[in-house]
Amino acid sequence: MAVSVAPRDTGVLLASVASFRGIIPNYIGGEWTPSASPRELDVTNPATGERLAVVRLSTADDVGRAVAAARSAFPAWRETPPVERARKLFRLKMLLEEHFQDIARIVTLENGKTLAEAKGSVRRAIENVEHACGIPTLMMGQTLEDVAHGIDCETVRQPIGVFAAITPFNFPAMVPLWFWPYAVATGNCIVVKPSEQVPLSQQRIVELAHEAGFPAGVLNLVHGDKEAVDAILRHPEIAGVSFVGSSPVARYIYRTAAEHGKRVQALGGAKNHMVVMPDAPVEFAADGVVSSVYGCTGQRCLAGSVAVAVEKAYAPLKERVAAAAKSLRLGYGLDPATQMGPVVSRKHRERVVGYIDQGEAEGAKLVVDGRGARVDEYPRGHWVGPTLFDQVQPDMVIGKEEIFGPVLTLSRAGSLDEAIELVHRSGYANATSIFTSSGRAAREFRYRIGVSMIGVNIGVAAPMAFFPFGGTKGSFYGDLKAHGRDAIEFYTDKKVVISRW
Ligand code: NAD
Repeated sequence: MAVSVAPRDTGVLLASVASFRGIIPNYIGGEWTPSASPRELDVTNPATGERLAVVRLSTADDVGRAVAAARSAFPAWRETPPVERARKLFRLKMLLEEHFQDIARIVTLENGKTLAEAKGSVRRAIENVEHACGIPTLMMGQTLEDVAHGIDCETVRQPIGVFAAITPFNFPAMVPLWFWPYAVATGNCIVVKPSEQVPLSQQRIVELAHEAGFPAGVLNLVHGDKEAVDAILRHPEIAGVSFVGSSPVARYIYRTAAEHGKRVQALGGAKNHMVVMPDAPVEFAADGVVSSVYGCTGQRCLAGSVAVAVEKAYAPLKERVAAAAKSLRLGYGLDPATQMGPVVSRKHRERVVGYIDQGEAEGAKLVVDGRGARVDEYPRGHWVGPTLFDQVQPDMVIGKEEIFGPVLTLSRAGSLDEAIELVHRSGYANATSIFTSSGRAAREFRYRIGVSMIGVNIGVAAPMAFFPFGGTKGSFYGDLKAHGRDAIEFYTDKKVVISRW
């Protein structure tokens, strides 16, 4: 079975998948090899319900083979001059540009987000490759002469060995590229395990990496679920693990990988608050809130989830957000008229709808209800419409848990102090925003708020590739965050050499 697509789609066919009749093979030691695992999962299009391919859920043996391939590639790769390693990434960057449209289309096919959103995410993915191309400069150490009379001291950065990256369903092209370009640029080898729900985007990118000419074993791709993850966490030859996903799994990854002596960076879930001050231009703030909450169907770790309206911002904000939520056009992401796609799966839809049911039962007031949403052309799609709750208390389940769908809860605060206090009651601290026309309020907010990624008059505060990405509290387990200079720290050891001649 080739990768099948809906009637309107054309030209998406992954050679590595077609050659195994629709089974998505792993990429180990430079070769495409399907897992022998008896456990399989259909990869489906969340808008049409059509099967795109079948993913085999790899075993510990598959992971072991990938690690062995990475291990044997490591000595030659670490000795490859950084400038030559960077050239492979330059080549990959060119190939990603050449196939930009196709990759974005695959993201939409398997994840459901609109094509415009998919393109945005592929652009962000490529920016990480671009940033990693600077590795000869990024990886430099430091030197100080005469730390004592006639004695010099220098630090050099060295790769460590084999790393692994485990990634979520919501950004199938981008999130793996938060990690692996930096891991290989610094001279390590890596095993990437994408989300089993959306394996095709990374499959296509690894096909292109193969074409870019990375030596066999430097980059390996293993598809699977918990079984493969557990094998990674316990493998003695894996030096470190980069993870992005939900908080309970992030905690598990952090604990288990650390117990097995590994470096870990584990990015978890979120419940992002957006504070709207009474001095903010309400039209502008409402636009920012709406695109933050409903963009990517709410399936973004940076998605706004709670709007905290201060004093008289409340009523006009509610009115405008409700009107915008009612007017958003739901549909298939490949249709250019679509403004919001489906959620990723039937199971995820049930979860989101379950939260809406629970919010109602807890006494919150449903202003816009997305539960009955349907798209006539695509009756098998996992549709949830934009949803808005009013009168939400922070201790209600919908006020504190991550819903990860197009659901906004609206809360009221009497002052900036009260709003900050409300933000700080959350167990999560990934991203937050303030909308205001007061420099003083903005400064106060960014100074005091205990959240790591902050938007000032920006609804989605997404750090670019050259800045660190990650939260704090229940949103992040570790110390070095994703991309930016932290990536270089995470994937290298610093040696200190003290010399006297
Ligand atoms: P998830 O935690 O279910 O899965 C993430 C990865 O972990 C997948 O590769 C999956 O195969 C694996 N996994 C799942 N359950 C596991 C288990 N019990 N043991 C071991 N491995 C397991 O997350 P998801 O549903 O794919 O993604 C959505 C979540 O990711 C949301 O919570 C979202 O906030 C979070 N996210 C966070 C960021 C960030 O930067 N903090 C970015 C994107 C997504």
